Amino acid sequence: MGAESSKGNKAFVNILPVSRHELGPMWTNNKMPGPCYKWAVNDKWNVSDFRMYNVTYPDDCRGEPFVICYHIHSNRSLDTVAKEIGRIPAPMRQAASVFMTYSDMLGENPSYDRTNYLVAAVYQDGAIFGRSNGYFPAALVHEVTHLIDGTLASPDAVHPAPGNTQFSSTQKWRDPVNNDGYAISEYGASAGYQEDFADVGRAVLLDTIYPGGLKNLSDNNANLTLITKQLKAFKDQAGTYYRKGGSCNDSLRFRYPTLMDIPKQPEQPAPGLPQYSQCGGKDWTGPTKCATGLVCVYVK
Ligand SMILES: [Zn+2]
Repeated sequence: MGAESSKGNKAFVNILPVSRHELGPMWTNNKMPGPCYKWAVNDKWNVSDFRMYNVTYPDDCRGEPFVICYHIHSNRSLDTVAKEIGRIPAPMRQAASVFMTYSDMLGENPSYDRTNYLVAAVYQDGAIFGRSNGYFPAALVHEVTHLIDGTLASPDAVHPAPGNTQFSSTQKWRDPVNNDGYAISEYGASAGYQEDFADVGRAVLLDTIYPGGLKNLSDNNANLTLITKQLKAFKDQAGTYYRKGGSCNDSLRFRYPTLMDIPKQPEQPAPGLPQYSQCGGKDWTGPTKCATGLVCVYVK
C-alpha cells in the first residue's frame, strides 16, 4: 500500500511485456475464493458485489487458472486487470493464486472512501497482502513481492507455512536491514520489515530489467549502495523470481484456495400495488400493500 507505488511504473510498463491472457466466463456457482471472501468481509464490502473469473496465461503459465475476484465498481475493466497481471513475470506471478479488485465508488464504503483502490494479490487460505491504490503494474510488483515473501518462508508451495509467516519476519532479513541501517524508501523505513522487503523487491526487478540498472532511472534514484546487504540477502533468497520472461513452474504454483458460499441476498419486499388497484374489500384475498406513497382507501 502507499504512495510509493508510483516508483518505476512507467519503466515497468515500457519494459515488461504483457503475457497473452484468456478470460473464462463469470462463475455461476455462487462461490468465492476464501481469501476474497475474508477480505471482502474484513474491509466491509458486500460479497455479492464481486464477480469471479478464471484467467489463464497460456504462453507462460499453463495449468491451474488464476482467479480474479472483480468488484462490479472497479475503476478498471476486467480485461485491463487481467492484462496487467500478465505483465508480472511468470515466476513472480505464480506466487499468487487469486487477485482481487475493490470498488472506487466514492462513499460506497467509508473505509475506502477514495478513488483508485485497485487490486490485491492473494495466496493461501486467508492470507492476503496489499490493497494498493493507483499504478499498475508497480503496485502489483510490490504486492506480489509480499506473496513471494510468504513463499520463501514455506517449505514448498504445496505446504505453505501456516499463518502469516514471511521471510522478512526472520532474522535472515532483519539482520541485513539493521546492518545496512538504511531502507530502500521512506515507506519501507516507516512501515517495517515486510514493506521494506516489498519495496526492495520492486527495486531489484527494476535493477534487473532497466538498461544499465536502477541507477540510470532518473526518477527512481534509490541509492542501492546504501542497502548492499539487503540486496544480497534478497537476491540470494528470491533472485530467481525477479527477471523478465520465464514461465511458471507447476511445483511452485500456490494451491487453489478454499471456496466459500456467497450468502443469498435478502428477498426484496414486494413493490406494492400500483395506483387505482384493488387493495381490499369484502372477501378480498389479494395483496393489500400499496406502493410507497399510496394508501388504500375505501371506495363505495
Ligand atoms: Zn505493502
